[in-house]
Amino acid sequence: MAVRPSDDLGKLTDGFSGEIVRPDDPGYDAARAVWNSMIDRRPALIVRPTGNDDVVAALRFAREQELIVAVRCGGHSIPGLSTCDDGIVIDLSRMRGADVDPERRTASVRGGSLLAELDDAAQAHGLVCPVGVVSHTGVAGLTLGGGMGRLQRQLGLTIDSLLAVELVTADGRVVRASEDENPELFWGMRGAGANFGIVTSFEFQLHPFEGLVTYGTVTHPIERAQELAERFRELVEDGPDELWTSFGMAVGGAARGPTASVSVLHSGSSADAERDLAGLRALEDPFEDSIESKQYLASQRLFDAPMEWGQRFSMKSSFIASLPDALVGDWADQVSRVPNGAEGGFSVWAWGRAIAAVSEEDTAFTGRGAAFWAGAEIAWNDDALDDACRSWARAAADTAAPHATVGRYVNDVTEVGGDVARTIYGDAKYERLVALKREWDPENVFRLNQNIAPWRS
Ligand SMILES: Cc1cc2nc3c(=O)[nH]c(=O)nc-3n(C[C@H](O)[C@H](O)[C@H](O)COP(=O)(O)OP(=O)(O)OC[C@H]3O[C@@H](n4cnc5c(N)ncnc54)[C@H](O)[C@@H]3O)c2cc1C
Repeated sequence: MAVRPSDDLGKLTDGFSGEIVRPDDPGYDAARAVWNSMIDRRPALIVRPTGNDDVVAALRFAREQELIVAVRCGGHSIPGLSTCDDGIVIDLSRMRGADVDPERRTASVRGGSLLAELDDAAQAHGLVCPVGVVSHTGVAGLTLGGGMGRLQRQLGLTIDSLLAVELVTADGRVVRASEDENPELFWGMRGAGANFGIVTSFEFQLHPFEGLVTYGTVTHPIERAQELAERFRELVEDGPDELWTSFGMAVGGAARGPTASVSVLHSGSSADAERDLAGLRALEDPFEDSIESKQYLASQRLFDAPMEWGQRFSMKSSFIASLPDALVGDWADQVSRVPNGAEGGFSVWAWGRAIAAVSEEDTAFTGRGAAFWAGAEIAWNDDALDDACRSWARAAADTAAPHATVGRYVNDVTEVGGDVARTIYGDAKYERLVALKREWDPENVFRLNQNIAPWRS
């Protein structure tokens, strides 16, 4: 529904001190763009609040006008859940910034912040919060779904460092959730958080962290995928918690054809890293071995340019119990079928350790018991490739399906509706989330997410 006459808009402008962008404003097309350029939606209104009062005013206005509400932080949602047709986008990009308390080792982070702001503020005090690997991703979307990153085996998921959230609820109240205040809501915020309100502030526990890490990738021709996968399994099994590692197979970019690779980030001493990575680096004649000492902050920005806004993108992921040779072989075949003109492949991240040290019951996030996270990603620019690339991603997901364990990572799930949310959380947690949704958002105001509908059981 389009927002009608300007007197309707007047009901918002009374109490709202942020920015309002309408379809006939010159900045509208830039304001409605999101990270994945497959998503092309035309909201009736985009508003950029500057604080809690503005968020409350925008939400009240949306409800009065019966507008569907999209909430946006970094705009990275792959299926475009932070925008909509004809409704209102509450875009928190004017609510950014992170304040660190070095004594308590905590960070207070505004609801529209990007990972770079949290990373920079924490490292300025020799501290860190484990977050994702592309610095222009939003703190809110990433955290409310879980938060994977290269420190996850040592420090856990981002939600495992979350101390509290402040949020504007569907009925316009500002509430806090933590282990002590609204603990059941806090449980749900950690994995299904986009369902329960608009988070205006996050409080994180930070951890002491030297800035120097050993980081890089060893890349070989895809014919050596099985050998590399074996080295990867050894690293996962024998390496310390300070070692993050992923195994990948991909095609695209460089003209050298399909490749297999292992990436690492080791946050122990350089001597420990050299010892722990010796087996991986002993494989002869790599195309590339980029492993070297680096500032952690530099490693956090290495994928900012390759993963820049504006590409067409699809992905599927699952948690898997093991990485058998047969699966590596099937994926190698799939890589050879990436449509010409696209870049695509698989990556498998070591899971476990600090992630598994938190009980599956402690948070809504589901999937801590897996051995690996496995994702298939494909990016392209030409819209003529849309169908072929989406079919490739679906076929890729089918390959991993027989190996999948319980749960799915909500932030990677690109299909929406039906029983999708149940497959993400499993039956028991899903029912618990439905009860929570009925309490905090009985009319399903926040439904542009992997939705826990309050009226379904
Ligand atoms: C390039 C790229 C790299 C990525 N890397 C990683 C990674 O390393 N690790 C990882 O775990 N994931 C990663 N992801 C996935 C990422 O976590 C999700 O796409 C996440 O939803 C992005 O958050 P956002 O704030 O940028 O997204 P948005 O599109 O702004 O929002 C995503 C969802 O969160 C909701 N939301 C946003 N802000 C708020 C708020 N303040 N309060 C309540 N709800 C809110 C939105 O309504 C929407 O449903 C990556 C994604 C991309 C595109």
